[in-house]
Amino acid sequence: MANDIAAYDYCALILLFVIVVYYFRTSVHGTYRVRIMTIIVWAAIGAAACDATRIRFSALGTVNEFRLINVNVIYYLLLSLVPPLFLLYSIATTDTWHKFSKVRIRSFLCMIPILINIGLLICNFFKPVVFGIAADRSLDKHWGYAVGLIIFGFYMALTGWFIKQYVRPIDRKRYYVLVLPLWVVLVGALIDLFSPRQHIINFTITICILGLVLINRRVEDSIDFSTGMHTYKVFAEDMDTNFKSGKQMDIILINIVNYKYALRIIGYDAMLRMMSPMSGEILRIMRRYHAQAMCYYNGDGKFAIELSQRSFGAAREITDEISRSIRQNIRMEVADFELEINTCLVNCPNDISDINALFMLIADLDIAQTDGKIVSASTITETKEFTMKKEMSTIIDRALSNHYFSVFYQPIYDTNTGRFASAEALLRLRDPKYGYISPSMFIPIAEKSGAIHAIGSFVFEEVIKFIASPDFAPMGVDYIEINLSVMQCLRSNLADEIISLCEKYNVDPAKLNLEITETASGYSQSKLYGNIQTLAERGYSFSLDDFGTGYSNLMRIASLPLDIVKLDRAFVQMEESGGHHVIIKNLIEMLKNMNLKVLVEGVETEEMVDSFRQMGVDEIQGFYYSRPLTKSAYIRFMKENAV
Ligand code: C2E
Ligand code: CA
Ligand code: CA
Repeated sequence: MANDIAAYDYCALILLFVIVVYYFRTSVHGTYRVRIMTIIVWAAIGAAACDATRIRFSALGTVNEFRLINVNVIYYLLLSLVPPLFLLYSIATTDTWHKFSKVRIRSFLCMIPILINIGLLICNFFKPVVFGIAADRSLDKHWGYAVGLIIFGFYMALTGWFIKQYVRPIDRKRYYVLVLPLWVVLVGALIDLFSPRQHIINFTITICILGLVLINRRVEDSIDFSTGMHTYKVFAEDMDTNFKSGKQMDIILINIVNYKYALRIIGYDAMLRMMSPMSGEILRIMRRYHAQAMCYYNGDGKFAIELSQRSFGAAREITDEISRSIRQNIRMEVADFELEINTCLVNCPNDISDINALFMLIADLDIAQTDGKIVSASTITETKEFTMKKEMSTIIDRALSNHYFSVFYQPIYDTNTGRFASAEALLRLRDPKYGYISPSMFIPIAEKSGAIHAIGSFVFEEVIKFIASPDFAPMGVDYIEINLSVMQCLRSNLADEIISLCEKYNVDPAKLNLEITETASGYSQSKLYGNIQTLAERGYSFSLDDFGTGYSNLMRIASLPLDIVKLDRAFVQMEESGGHHVIIKNLIEMLKNMNLKVLVEGVETEEMVDSFRQMGVDEIQGFYYSRPLTKSAYIRFMKENAV
């Protein structure tokens, strides 16, 4: 061993120390993956150090045989641990541990070869079964050495098989990341075998560790632990890049439509336990079709699978099979509760060409009527509603700059005085391409995009200008109600804006009433309370809109400076269907006892007007009296109905 080269080992050691410093300072501790990598790194450091030492020892010629044997045994021990550890790392990094642990006997069998190897190396202290020391102090290899090599190869092959079997169908990218080191180490091992003086194997192992550490950082952020699939975040990133590069994709979408309902019935834990068999089932099918894919779990029972190009031909069949087999094979713990599953095959960029549209499609798949059939993406994407929603941001921008928005007014009847004492301002959008668009459609989108603030300012200015105009005073209207969405309430300068607008047009705050929703009252943000408090102190009054549709919290209602509670149209429907009369009656009574005025919305018939009047509501709003009207129509209406 006198002419052996130790330089590769020294290089390996330097690199490994760099890895120790870098990796352990930057990675999330405590996960299996990091723990196993830690062991691999220390084993590699030990092996490289032992290798360098044994080269040095044999060169010195003064070290006794026993110490030479010791250092060699430790070296081979550490080296033989690397392939099984790498197998563990592959399992941990793909969260496929359940594949192994499910079959305990198989896991046990997998451990036997390494135990044999360790046993042989220990025996070597007593009898040279693996190697002995020749007269020239080189290694004299025996049959045990060949066994060690076979075992080394066995674990490499097993890891390769495992990665091919379980990683490839679920995660193309990680497949290459994991399989490449196997080849690199194999090349290193072969060089070492045929040119033993090179001592290159530790260096190749180090290179692989470096690669894995750099490429495979923070995997725990990107893997969903209940399914072993990629998370929503990775999905969004991958899809964004794919759409930008114009990549052809076949994506299978699988939605558990009644996920939230199931969650309520069987609970979070049970639902979580169901996710693993479900991803297992998907994986099994992918394997059967030899399909490569990227599998994602986007949460809330929504899966997405991006098939690789070579599986495009079988895409339809795979989708069919997934849809059918999940329905048949996944059983709930609660009998007679069935999962409702909608599946859809999307061809990109034909059906969908940008990420927002894809997310909209995923959301809309929940409400598609399927009768258990696969939904074709085009049936959703070709509807007017879908195209409109897709363009909504543009539509809103267009409407803002071209003045396509207008404010309508719906008169509100005061049962105590018999006058139309107030009105609700309701926003209308008339688009040149799509015609009239409902606020319930564009408000949620405007809230997300932030356009709600510009829209809100427009509504305030319109209404305040109207109140300041000479048309207003003769109508004898006490105040106008304006809707405020949660997003608006959370904006810090909301109060200032309203106050300065009223000052600008010289309008009395008592002429405005601001409607906030129950959802808004559920937010504990201090900004929201700050805005409301400031406005209330200045004399603005508030209504609680859509009462009865959200989670009512009476304590919270009591804590807000409210004047009016607006019962949602759902109460009218309840009253119409009968049966809940007493509840509604008592509710109204209770609210009135809290010193609140009670308004009922969505009253369409005389019968309901009578019914709610008898129950003592103060105000009635609905089509029975009038639909929302343009400003001029509203002025006319008030003239005709003057008392
Ligand atoms: P909302 O505040 O609950 O408004 C009442 C909705 O019920 C209005 O729908 C109104 O046209 C409708 N309605 C009134 N009476 C009846 C009736 O007798 N029967 C039926 N079936 N419906 C009736 P609209 O105008 O489509 O507004 C929908 C929602 O959009 C509003 O619900 C409100 O949440 C929001 N919205 C409207 N304008 C604005 C606005 O200026 N700002 C904000 N932030 N949201 C607004
Ligand atoms: Ca309202
Ligand atoms: Ca309402």
